[in-house]
Amino acid sequence: MNNKVRIQDDLYEAVNGEWLAQAVIPDDKPTTGGFSLLDENVEKILMQDIEDFAAGRKKSDVTGLEDAVRLYCKVLDTARRNADGIKPAMGLLAEIRSIDSAADLNEKAYDLMLKGVDLPIRLGVEADMKNATANCLFLMGPSIILPDTPYYGQPVGEKLLNAYRTMAARALSHTDLSEDEQKAYLEDTMTYDALISKQVKSQLEWADYVANYNPMSLAEVCDYVAPFDLRGLLTKLYGKDLPETVIAYDPKAIREMKEYFNEDNLALYVHWAYVKTLINKSSTLSEELAGNATLYRRTLMGVEKDPELKKQAYQRISRCYSEPIGVYYGRTYFGEEAKKDVVKMVKRIIEAYKGRMRRNGFLEEATKEKAIRKLSTIAIKMGYPDEVRDLYKDLTVREADSYYQAMENIGRQMMLDELGKLNKPVDRSEWLMPGHMVNACYDSSRNDITFPAAILQKPFYSLHQTVSENLGGIGAVISHEISHAFDNNGAHFDENGNLNNWWSEKDFEAFKALTQDMIEQWDGIEYCGGRVNGELVVSENIADNGGMAVTLEIMHDTEGADFQLYFINWAKVWCLKATDQYIQLRLQNDVHSPAKLRANIQVRNFREWYEAFDVRETDEMFIPEDKRIIIW
Ligand SMILES: [Zn+2]
Repeated sequence: MNNKVRIQDDLYEAVNGEWLAQAVIPDDKPTTGGFSLLDENVEKILMQDIEDFAAGRKKSDVTGLEDAVRLYCKVLDTARRNADGIKPAMGLLAEIRSIDSAADLNEKAYDLMLKGVDLPIRLGVEADMKNATANCLFLMGPSIILPDTPYYGQPVGEKLLNAYRTMAARALSHTDLSEDEQKAYLEDTMTYDALISKQVKSQLEWADYVANYNPMSLAEVCDYVAPFDLRGLLTKLYGKDLPETVIAYDPKAIREMKEYFNEDNLALYVHWAYVKTLINKSSTLSEELAGNATLYRRTLMGVEKDPELKKQAYQRISRCYSEPIGVYYGRTYFGEEAKKDVVKMVKRIIEAYKGRMRRNGFLEEATKEKAIRKLSTIAIKMGYPDEVRDLYKDLTVREADSYYQAMENIGRQMMLDELGKLNKPVDRSEWLMPGHMVNACYDSSRNDITFPAAILQKPFYSLHQTVSENLGGIGAVISHEISHAFDNNGAHFDENGNLNNWWSEKDFEAFKALTQDMIEQWDGIEYCGGRVNGELVVSENIADNGGMAVTLEIMHDTEGADFQLYFINWAKVWCLKATDQYIQLRLQNDVHSPAKLRANIQVRNFREWYEAFDVRETDEMFIPEDKRIIIW
């Protein structure tokens, strides 16, 4: 605790100030504290285990783990990587370079896509919003270099593009392009990216999840995207079994694709795809190329150094082999007792939520019933899945493969796995987060909540913490995730995960008005030289608000409840020290508000906050009763 700051004036600072003052952000990371600190610990534990597997000191029978360890060793094999230099990528780069017409691209598109080259269009498969048992094919425009479209034209965007230029120029000097060609490729890349950025969605637009649902007939889309031959690409993927309808998640980019992809500017696309591929693949090439290719990301995040090689190797496999590593982590470090205890807490929270729905002041009876039904059917995924999916049986890292080749094979297999789901039913048992991830989520199409084993630790949760602390930690996170079922996006989905209006017109209007109040409560708050965009962060703020309302209600029914401990632990879980660059980035395009504001702004909506610490009108963390918002 920081004794110089009164808790009534700044809860976050009073709880975390002393720790934050002495905390040092590791030079290979943008953040420390809270979530990041747990993440660092998980990383340390797993890095040691992987090292033991690699050295043959330990064994595990988790499917896929052996393969992961083989990939780990390939990352560490710098003698081979450095001797190969850029060579492993040259075949693919030459293939991209040789594209001389749209017809030629169409011929090669399937192969290029599976090798990880960005096409003028992106494809994905996931549950259909209106029929959550079936998968659908969705389409998006390409991803741009900058983190968000509004960065174009801003000084910060210019600075980032300069970093990208420096990095790309160095990488290009390793290729067989002449100096003039290198310059032209780089300039064309910048021109093309700026052109795409005018057509694709901004992060604010992506935050409106329901707006992604734009069904179009395949025939219509094929006309929009010509001369790109989408039908040809899909035929190679699916044979004759093509979907009649596809979903344009980013409809403007699809409808206006001719603006950035046509015969006349094909060279721009080719050069852009060449440079992006070179940068993306660099991490799997020599140490020099790999080290160069992180410059842009480090500038973006304000990170000084790359992680040491062993950490890079661990981070690589923890992403590519997230399921095997998550299952291993869960089986090794997550106890049954804790699992039972937290599942019990989830059930209690769902019951309390139902009670609040029954007593809700703005919902009509019929809507209340449907909300309660939705709560009753939420599926709980706690800890880690029992088994690793079949996909990992087939990912085989062979001795003869270079690191580059191994990664290409894995990428190909994963893409085929995802796209191959199209004509299969939705697998509702799939986990969206692996067991070793310090996070949690709600999925509106499956109506389920996932709590990976790694988040079930102090300060979020411990069998040795008080119930009040656990409620202010993991309890508030659990009810936050449940609240996503009723945030401005989740509210549109029914208990089966379908986009289906279950509200009366009147109560949906009332809900929308409350949503607007939440936007206004946050909009424009100054933080670290920037401002909060209330609309961008509204879904997460509704979830925090619901999370707090329900857990505070449970506190009232808990014997020996200590409201001070509840709020102190709530502030503890949001403790975060970050680089300025990281904070600015998240402020611009993250749907979550800055951690400090999550700790400090939300509590002011609840009378328990005022009672717990005798917060008065003259205190900084006071707002009058008519400004307080409780939605659920
Ligand atoms: Zn959330």
